Amino acid sequence: MSNVYFIPAGTCAKEASVRLLQAVLEREQVTLADQIPIKVHFGEKGNRTYLKPEMYDGLIDFLQGHGIDCRFSETSVLYGGERFSREKHLKLAEAHGFTRIPVKIEDGANGEEAADVKVGLKHFQSCAVAKGLAEAEQILVCSHFKGHKLAGFGGAVKQLSMGCAAKGGKMAMHLSVKPKIFNLFCKHCGLCATRCQVKAITVTRKKAVIDHEKCIGCGACFSICRHHAVSILSWAGLKNMLFGANNFREKLVEYAYAAHRGKKNIYLNFAMSVTRGCDCEPLPMRACIPDIGIFASTDPVAIDQACLDAAEKAGKKFKGSEQLAYAEKIGLGSRKYELIEI
Ligand code: SF4
Ligand code: SF4
Repeated sequence: MSNVYFIPAGTCAKEASVRLLQAVLEREQVTLADQIPIKVHFGEKGNRTYLKPEMYDGLIDFLQGHGIDCRFSETSVLYGGERFSREKHLKLAEAHGFTRIPVKIEDGANGEEAADVKVGLKHFQSCAVAKGLAEAEQILVCSHFKGHKLAGFGGAVKQLSMGCAAKGGKMAMHLSVKPKIFNLFCKHCGLCATRCQVKAITVTRKKAVIDHEKCIGCGACFSICRHHAVSILSWAGLKNMLFGANNFREKLVEYAYAAHRGKKNIYLNFAMSVTRGCDCEPLPMRACIPDIGIFASTDPVAIDQACLDAAEKAGKKFKGSEQLAYAEKIGLGSRKYELIEI
């Protein structure tokens, strides 16, 4: 059983996040490291519901007030867009206002800086975690609780896994998913082809096709298509789902385990502007439930479970709990928690 601290929506996020951090430090007896990366998501260009830089002001004031050297931390993504390389990512961070403390892209200029973290689990013997984060003694993992078409709803576990993985790790998690385009729904707009960094998609006036020899399974085309023409329900994907041979969500959890193990991380989940899509989607989206509030814990499984349960109370049952069952099984955390409102 883990403790999850909670402040409902309505209190200023700057104040609430500090009170929650203090609660974790005092009641869980966690000490702060001298240097702390604050793992965030800068939001893809065009997205409007990512956590804005002001949300972190209270945390930064608190950490700096205690003499701690903190930075905004991110990793580059597999697909094209403004977060593909360190150079582009830094420009986007600046454009989105993340200028108060230094920004570090933790896996290098093009995702080449990775540390091999041994895990010895079902899908991975070791995981390619971004070097800067693998070497950190402690990470303050700040997550926007929201959906993702492949990974389901969640916060801390996704932020730890895909968010902390180097490019090679992201690729290893995605490789089993090879999407397919259904031309019945396809409008031949070409948007998916512009997002495919390995040029695996050919779009003509009559059809769009993915070359599975080139496809690295990054999922960008699936995320970007507004006409639901891209499906991951290929025969290979279905086989993986049915027989669990290459389960994407289990892989995700194993990477979260790699980024969490041996660290005294602190997790904050912001269940505000909860969207069905991810902050990596370059689109304006609407919240699908009213704001719930902010959660904090030292357990990434308990905090995500608490968010899912709170969302259910708010009237929606979201997919996401199945990966938490696997997370609990491998010892990443506990799905049982006590919710402590402060
Ligand atoms: S983004 Fe969707 S609709 Fe547009 S070409 Fe690709 S699959 Fe077709
Ligand atoms: S075709 Fe494959 S590599 Fe290209 S965007 Fe889609 S999933 Fe990614």
